[in-house]
Amino acid sequence: MKIGVLALQGAVREHIRHIELSGHEGIAVKKVEQLDEIDGLILPGGESTTLRRLMDLYGFKEKLQQSDLPMFGTCAGLIVLAKDVEGETGYLKKLDITVARNSFGRQVDSFEAELDVKSIAKDIEGVFIRAPHIVNVENNVEILSSISDKIVAVKQGKYLGVSFHPELTDDYRITQYFIEHIVK
Ligand code: GLN
Repeated sequence: MKIGVLALQGAVREHIRHIELSGHEGIAVKKVEQLDEIDGLILPGGESTTLRRLMDLYGFKEKLQQSDLPMFGTCAGLIVLAKDVEGETGYLKKLDITVARNSFGRQVDSFEAELDVKSIAKDIEGVFIRAPHIVNVENNVEILSSISDKIVAVKQGKYLGVSFHPELTDDYRITQYFIEHIVK
């Protein structure tokens, strides 16, 4: 499979490494035309406001809204996929969820936690960096993981979203799940 990583901002190389460890080809996507060459797309973490601005600028918004390419969003990438964002408007609106940004509180800006992620593994190391959480999901969305009542991983059809950064660990099982069970 050829899996793209949106390469406008954020952790791109780390995601490509996880794609390769999963046994697939990872491609840094910088231009909309490249979307035609891939089977799935990862939207990385970073800063969602910046990511949205750059996606507008390079024409990714319309193209991705119209496309039915499987997508996996991590952290800021999750925010970009959400239908609703508290205090803002949603962007790609592919996941029927509401997210709250920077929602774990200032005192816990960044932290790690072991997560039970349904259908994937019970011992996923979650790295949270000024992370969002999912406040609300519609009926068609499957909740894969929560941490102290905050939803942090969901799946809806071709779309997967997590509020943490799997690419910053050596554990590539979530990326592998995305490719083997959603993209394929
Ligand atoms: N705080 C960022 C935002 O709201 C997300 C942080 C991240 O991707 N690590 O966009």
